Amino acid sequence: MYILLMGPPGAGKGTQAEKLVAQFQIPHISTGDMFRAAVKNGTELGKEAKKYMDAGGLVPDAVTIGIVRERLTQKDCAKGFILDGFPRTTEQAMALDGILKDLSINLTGVVNIGVPDTELVSRVTGRRICKACGATYHIAYNPSKVEGICDKCGGVLYQRDDDKEETVKKRLEAYHDQTAPLIGYYKKQGVFIDIEGMQNIDKVYTDLLAALKK
Ligand code: ADP
Ligand code: AMP
Repeated sequence: MYILLMGPPGAGKGTQAEKLVAQFQIPHISTGDMFRAAVKNGTELGKEAKKYMDAGGLVPDAVTIGIVRERLTQKDCAKGFILDGFPRTTEQAMALDGILKDLSINLTGVVNIGVPDTELVSRVTGRRICKACGATYHIAYNPSKVEGICDKCGGVLYQRDDDKEETVKKRLEAYHDQTAPLIGYYKKQGVFIDIEGMQNIDKVYTDLLAALKK
């Protein structure tokens, strides 16, 4: 199963990816997670990416395409993957077409999770992530049993730097300007799946699975 998860920041891509990973045991490849790991490790890539992430903008295409190409050619991606947060520009989408062609991979589905901007701001500002295992929570919509502590591993929950309200608005602008046009790009390729994201997490997953099975 080769899946692209698309949708604005806060739509629920990472949340649905966690469920798909548990069910299908295929890698979850999130460019956002890869950049955050690089920032944490203080690498050159991290230093470069941080400038754009802090401003709510996109990391340049050449850098992003390079890390995705390298990741998708690793062995564990041969039988499937969930790509989350990539592509975000037309240039990235065209580069991905080339990478997949080189690897003789056809996408199973391009899933777009639709959620209106008004809801996205509260989803993103209420998001909390486990420092240890990366599990995602929401202070109101999907709270951990003990506040600030991960249910799965007991790790400490934190808020991402770029999940503050000022930055979220900039990220939504970048989404509408640069990423939303990709919906048309993938509709033309005939693998596009639209999922209603304004439902609870389990119902979104049920719809997603049903659409992928078709
Ligand atoms: P993305 O990866 O698309 O940026 P996340 O999966 O991290 O989004 O979800 C953003 C926030 O919204 C998280 O705090 C998550 O717990 C919450 N969330 C995800 N899906 C839903 C949903 N269907 N209903 C309510 N809250 C949700
Ligand atoms: P995310 O975790 O998907 O919300 O991404 C967090 C931030 O990482 C984004 O706001 C961008 O700055 C950067 N980023 C993630 N994926 C990409 C991408 N495909 N292209 C450019 N920048 C990206």
